[in-house]
Amino acid sequence: PVRVRFAPSPTGMFHVGGARSALYNWAVARQRGGKFVLRIEDTDQARNKPEWIDGIISALASIGISEADPAFEGPFFQSQNADRHREAGLQLYAQGKAYYCDCAREQVQERTGSQQLGYDGFCRDRGLEYVEGRALRFRTPDEGQTVVVDMVRGEPAFPNSAIEDFVIARGDGSPVFLIANVVDDLDEGITEVIRGEEHLSNTPKQQLLWEALGATPPVWAHLPVIVNEKRQKLSKRRDKVALEDYLAEGYLPEAMVNYLMLLGWGPGDDVEIRPYAELEQLFRIEDVNTSSAFFDVKKLSAFNGEYLRALPVEKFAEACQPWLREPYATWRPEAYDGEIFAKLAVLAQTRLTVLSEITKYVDWMFLDEAPEDEASWAKAMKPGAEEILKGARERYATAAWDTDTLKATLEEIAAANGLKLGKAQAPVRVAVTGRTVGLPLFESMELLGRERTLARLDAALT
Ligand code: GLU
Repeated sequence: PVRVRFAPSPTGMFHVGGARSALYNWAVARQRGGKFVLRIEDTDQARNKPEWIDGIISALASIGISEADPAFEGPFFQSQNADRHREAGLQLYAQGKAYYCDCAREQVQERTGSQQLGYDGFCRDRGLEYVEGRALRFRTPDEGQTVVVDMVRGEPAFPNSAIEDFVIARGDGSPVFLIANVVDDLDEGITEVIRGEEHLSNTPKQQLLWEALGATPPVWAHLPVIVNEKRQKLSKRRDKVALEDYLAEGYLPEAMVNYLMLLGWGPGDDVEIRPYAELEQLFRIEDVNTSSAFFDVKKLSAFNGEYLRALPVEKFAEACQPWLREPYATWRPEAYDGEIFAKLAVLAQTRLTVLSEITKYVDWMFLDEAPEDEASWAKAMKPGAEEILKGARERYATAAWDTDTLKATLEEIAAANGLKLGKAQAPVRVAVTGRTVGLPLFESMELLGRERTLARLDAALT
């Protein structure tokens, strides 16, 4: 059975690119009754932090990759396999497949000129033994080529003459990432390595290590790089990349999963919105694209809007709850009323793209006064606005308090002032809700009630 793995380094927030790699591995493991191994590559002591490890596990759980699922194995920790990484290097040395080297970087550069990249093989046949400070280098073949079987890219061939004798253990004896990663995959019985394109250049070296260690290399799959709207590789300095940040903004995990599954792959029809269970069945690693994948936040928002609208309204109201409390809520906690909110939720559901927007759609209801928004005020309170507000104040004092009457009344006031309803709504909307855009006005006023509506019209008139 297939055994795949996801091997993040716990050096920062969980990246959406990592989430996509994890999901593709998960789909492959689950659709073929195999295993998904989580391996934490925690050997970079200086950059690792324990909290990132918890972050990885909870981020995976949030996108449906659960430790409780029978397909899940681990987590394993690279640091706990350190002895095996060392032994593998020593084994290669004992077999003559690796050698010690005491060249300083400057010496190599002096010999080769600065143009040539890589090591010139100076110590290959010097027969040096280990003393502190000598690096262990892998003896790569001089001739032939290393062909990598890659489910996404076909069979790229790398001429061996271009693969330098690379370091596998540093001068202090500590193994480098390249070999630790291979030995772990080998020990964990990994049959397919599905990972980001940035590791493709490591692959011929790693495949040579697999062979030198007497094992059959895995099949590889390198996923296309993810880019922003400027076609730059997504980076945590420039772009919003943390899965957690998207969830905190109110993207639903289901929408994220759907979107990420399609980031570099498509089922070949036009249906984009699909639950994960279906995508899992349809997914084919062979059909993943080689060209870079654009992380389109607008498209993600559109997906999220679709997912929000598809929720039963009670579920939607429930999903909004975190954004109706501290630190998002701008009103006193005791001013919040769940029953009123349920009514507002019906009006809001079709309008949101992310859940965090809910606050500004409903705050006017739970605040004592209409929120102040200068831009909205300036836009709505044009000449003529005062007459509309005065008319509204007068007629609404006695009009029947239901949506239809409220609307018909404002239509009459608008007509009397030579305005269309739309134009006349703007000042009333801003007086009552503080903003030029929001929920349907007359429904909103009905819910706010006569007394509070009149108080806000008064406040706007003073
Ligand atoms: N720890 C590596 C990374 O986070 C993964 C390497 C691999 O998947 O082989 O980039």
